[in-house]
Amino acid sequence: MELVNLKDKTERVSFAQAVKQGIGREQGLFFMEDIKPFSAEEIDALLSMDLVSRSQKVLRHLIGPDEIPTLEAIIADAFNFKAPLVKADDNAYCLELFHGPTLAFKDFGARFMARVLSSIIGDSKCTILTATSGDTGAAVADAFYHQDKINVVVLYPKGMVSPLQESLIATLGDNIHAVEIDAPFDNCQDMVKSAFDDAELRAAVGLNSANSINISRLLAQVCYYFEAVSQLPREQRDQVVFAVPCGNFGNITAGLIAKALGLKSRFVIACNANDTVPRYLKSGAWEPHKTVATISNAMDISRPNNWPRVEALCQIMGWSLSDFAYGSVSDDTTRENMRALYQKTGYILEPHASVAHKVLSENLKEGEVGIFLGTAHPAKFKEEVDRTLGIELPLPQALADRIALEKQKKLMAADFATLKSYMLDELKL
Ligand SMILES: *Cc1c(COP(=O)(O)O)cnc(C)c1O
Repeated sequence: MELVNLKDKTERVSFAQAVKQGIGREQGLFFMEDIKPFSAEEIDALLSMDLVSRSQKVLRHLIGPDEIPTLEAIIADAFNFKAPLVKADDNAYCLELFHGPTLAFKDFGARFMARVLSSIIGDSKCTILTATSGDTGAAVADAFYHQDKINVVVLYPKGMVSPLQESLIATLGDNIHAVEIDAPFDNCQDMVKSAFDDAELRAAVGLNSANSINISRLLAQVCYYFEAVSQLPREQRDQVVFAVPCGNFGNITAGLIAKALGLKSRFVIACNANDTVPRYLKSGAWEPHKTVATISNAMDISRPNNWPRVEALCQIMGWSLSDFAYGSVSDDTTRENMRALYQKTGYILEPHASVAHKVLSENLKEGEVGIFLGTAHPAKFKEEVDRTLGIELPLPQALADRIALEKQKKLMAADFATLKSYMLDELKL
């Protein structure tokens, strides 16, 4: 698979190189220049397979025969949980992507990336450094746990992640180093930036990032769009509309790659009050506002970094931006919608899924089948869900067990020199 830097077309890399490098020159994203679709017969055959067998075929098709010889085994190991399609409303299903180890859809991308990276680096070692305000850190920590050549350092702001999120990051131990920073998230992110700017540290610990622009995370996510359609009765498979709750627009990029591969579908972009893309699609002007805090906080992003990939894909495929349906939903409407669906069908939405369900229901036409993406388990937003619905949501057993474990973490001031000497002491290759 050849990938090109969207900002500098002279930089061309293999899939493996793109995974290792993350981002290209001038902060350009790596992306494909064309996509060879499956035939209608091939799509039919794929839709009759199980998740793992089908994902092996889809990703081998995208990545090509010459790279990642252990791809098939990696997929079997990474995708070891289900993604059920659950009827939630009259014409709408939820694709529940939250049955992985950290109960978030990010488990798909992070688990795949961890195993691919581990296979690529061979006998060398590396250190993943990431700052998190919650979910990504948990998914990354879990995904890389026990990958023996890779150390992980997760920086998180003291007192600003939920107790559950902290447990997921800090109870693993082994190669996962949880570092609690005595400052807000922005300082954590600044420390990570300083680390990547420090050539000595970079070389000494083999610094690498696992952030959401890594192409491997996107490709993993293509697979569950096929999985969703495979669970529909045959006669409904040609009228599918996906509604995706968007933050950095990685998830929807993956869906559009599935469409480019031949999956018949239409896409609805669902945002919260951070509505840069909906306003852009309406007016043609790209005018990010200041990011505002909402109850669907994983989507609190006003400069979505995967958007150039969406535009690149439209260009490759000859799609028009005007083909997208879209909408943005306030917190009040998000809560009202959670209550309305719970009363109507008993289905429990957390805030991100509620945004997607709401925009889907506003855009679904007669005869279409709606699928909205459930990106997190409702229990991960337990306080909001309990308060809004007046219920007492039980924690899944696996999470309750983790909360009971002792945390292994280091408390640190927001000071790069301290972080550097800590990493050199602990992680030097
Ligand atoms: C990360 C995240 C999103 C946004 O996904 P993108 O790929 O960034 O668009 C939506 N919901 C939840 C729960 C998330 O964690």
